[in-house]
Amino acid sequence: MDFQYYMPVRIVSGEDCVKKNASLLRTLGKNVLVVTGKSSAKNGALEDAVFAFNMNGQKYTIYDRVPNNPTVACVEEGARIAREVGADCVVAIGGGSPMDAAKAIAMLARQDAPEGIFAHAITDDVLPMAHIPTTAGTGSEVTPYSIITNDEKQTKTSISAPSLFPVYAFLDGKYMASLPQNVTVNTALDALSHAVEGMLSVRATLITDALARESIRLLTGEYDSLLNANYTSQSRQNLLLGSTLAGMVIANTGTTVVHGMGYSLTYFHDVPHGRANGLLLPAFLAECNRKAPQRVGQICDALGMDLETFSKKVAALLGKREEYSDTELADFARRASVNKNIKNCIVHFSEEELLRVLKRSLGV
Ligand code: NAP
Ligand code: ZN
Repeated sequence: MDFQYYMPVRIVSGEDCVKKNASLLRTLGKNVLVVTGKSSAKNGALEDAVFAFNMNGQKYTIYDRVPNNPTVACVEEGARIAREVGADCVVAIGGGSPMDAAKAIAMLARQDAPEGIFAHAITDDVLPMAHIPTTAGTGSEVTPYSIITNDEKQTKTSISAPSLFPVYAFLDGKYMASLPQNVTVNTALDALSHAVEGMLSVRATLITDALARESIRLLTGEYDSLLNANYTSQSRQNLLLGSTLAGMVIANTGTTVVHGMGYSLTYFHDVPHGRANGLLLPAFLAECNRKAPQRVGQICDALGMDLETFSKKVAALLGKREEYSDTELADFARRASVNKNIKNCIVHFSEEELLRVLKRSLGV
């Protein structure tokens, strides 16, 4: 069994971990560009980071114009500001959108990409980063991926390189106390999808399986909190750790069919990323079960339920599902069939099989 596992991020977890470990941030540089959205100014995360910068005597500039599903224009603007202020490091605060934008900004601040970021061969010359997640879903704080809206191809495209791993990830569930219920549910489903897709990846290993099983255990253990919108600080931390473990899985396995299909829902209908995955995950698993029942059985063991129960439980979390016409779903299947994630699954999906999953999930 030959394999490698690589995940170079130093993870610091626990209440007030940013303030308690402020000195770690000093090692990144003297002049910080903070990349964030609007919510970090209200949930305490920005305040804790600023406390650390002041304690360390670090200069900082706040770039808080990252939209959901970051765009090329946003990361170019952030990189221009990083260059203008002479930033020597980046601290990302927020959900997957600011964290992904921060990676592209940290890269573009040091590298010109005249051929465009999607065609650019990323070198090691990237500003060092710390990530402070304020949602529990993407795991971006421990992955080398930055997913940016690609208008030319009408999808979302991942740019990736080992140099895009942050140096530090600070995990403090207290920032999620203010997270809206729909974002909490959507992001938890994203994390679950990462763990499940990781187990069905051709690149799954003994290590990623161990991480995925523990992630699934933590996330499904919070099902009642998610369903009843009733969270303790422990349940917030469990969801966050479940998400980070799932990030550690996909950092090595990549995602597969669910993500490959989900990008169209987000690009064309603005369906939040995690919700798009949650809508597709049960039918995807049912389809996989036809060809790889043993592996899906292992996933059911980790979930602690059979596929039918899983499907009902996910449906209860999602509420009324979106519906699209057969013509549109056929278009999504065609687009997904050329997405590179599809080949990353141990089960081969033809365009017809992709359409079957889409119709079962979203058909009228
Ligand atoms: P998000 O787009 O980062 O955030 C969703 C919403 O929640 C935003 O309106 C955000 O506001 C708000 N928010 C964030 N934290 C909050 C808090 N603590 N309290 C209140 N509101 C808060 O959503 P996400 O699901 O975390 O990230 C999705 C993105 O990540 C997608 O672009 C997806 O493609 C990407 N992704 C990346 C990876 C990876 O490995 N890199 C993996 C999966 C998904 P503000 O932003 O204005 O603060
Ligand atoms: Zn995802």
